[in-house]
Amino acid sequence: MDRLERNRLERLAQTLEKGKKITTMSLIELGWNERLSALFEPYRSGGLSPARVVAQHRGAYTVAGDMGELRAGVSGRFRHEAAGPAAYPTVGDWIALEPSGRRRGIIHAVLERSTAFVRKTAGALTEAQVVATNIDTVFLVVGLDGDFNLRRIERYLTAAWDSGASPVIVLNKSDLRDDLAGLVAEVESIAAGAPVVAVSARDGSNLDALRAHISPGGTAALLGSSGAGKSTLINRLLGEDRQATGPVRESDSRGRHVTSRRELIALPGGGLLIDTPGMRELQLWTEEESLGRTFEDIEEIAARCRFADCRHKEEPGCAIREALANRSLDPARFESYLKQRRELRHLELKKDVQARRQSEKAVGRKMAALMKDVKMRKPNYW
Ligand code: GDP
Ligand code: ZN
Repeated sequence: MDRLERNRLERLAQTLEKGKKITTMSLIELGWNERLSALFEPYRSGGLSPARVVAQHRGAYTVAGDMGELRAGVSGRFRHEAAGPAAYPTVGDWIALEPSGRRRGIIHAVLERSTAFVRKTAGALTEAQVVATNIDTVFLVVGLDGDFNLRRIERYLTAAWDSGASPVIVLNKSDLRDDLAGLVAEVESIAAGAPVVAVSARDGSNLDALRAHISPGGTAALLGSSGAGKSTLINRLLGEDRQATGPVRESDSRGRHVTSRRELIALPGGGLLIDTPGMRELQLWTEEESLGRTFEDIEEIAARCRFADCRHKEEPGCAIREALANRSLDPARFESYLKQRRELRHLELKKDVQARRQSEKAVGRKMAALMKDVKMRKPNYW
């Protein structure tokens, strides 16, 4: 960290008060930085203001910036030019805003995201849905009770790497176990370098080790299965300041008061936390690349197989089968790797089918138009 950066952080730390509400936060406290400032340059000259999406409602957003909090929707042009659902603003996004009076604003652009959590939407179509963006650190929360499962941790790691955020594995409910060092070591062996911290949200032990991974102006999120202790941890991180999680009261377009949950929360002592329903249960939606990263050791062994397209079944000179035989590769880990590969392939197939259906539909539409044309001139043909 150079001197300028340190000065900046010191100034920032001085301005941070315990439990500051997002309504009174400056851009820097919301995570504004040099990269964003450079990205925003063209919009600034167009007279727009930067702001961050703190909550999402049906078709509208609560955004926060230098002007405080206001409600905003996308411009007609944005809607017209949006490439797809993934292009629309999401909690965590930085946007170019045109304030339009009466605590209202128009969103003209979404700044390029540094990271994004993407999941497939519920339902038959495998359409990517952006769940949250610009998350720097993601805490993968695992309960040291029935929830503890190395394979599940591997899946969450894959999702984290896929998003671009840095994962930190949080073993919660440390109060229930006394073999912590062994458990941490076991998790470290599959963590591929991600930090592992054991904490107890219940008695508050070791929470500082967790807080150390959230920098002022940095954005964190919690991921993990239901019951792992995410809500309890969030309450701990917020301390007594429950205001930040309280409902936001605003007026909708018809002037009625509506309440909604704030999903980007300011932490006492600096830093932000994204807590959206989508983040809470993230379905597996990953690319081969991050699978390779989680299972780097397996890919390394497979690279030593005699045949490049080895299926690790009957092929001679298979390094994987050798590693399984001499126990240098854990069969459960290999099984987990195969399972993820199968799921990915399944997703790929679904995407293929979807693409084919769409092109069939396009052909169908053309045929229908042709038939209409034909029918109009029916007497000549039939
Ligand atoms: P979430 O679904 O991930 O948000 O989990 P919750 O925060 O609702 O916690 C689920 C259950 O685990 C609750 O009964 C909590 O009281 C309990 N719990 C959370 N943290 C701890 C902990 O550190 N130790 C113990 N023993 N229980 C915990
Ligand atoms: Zn092989």
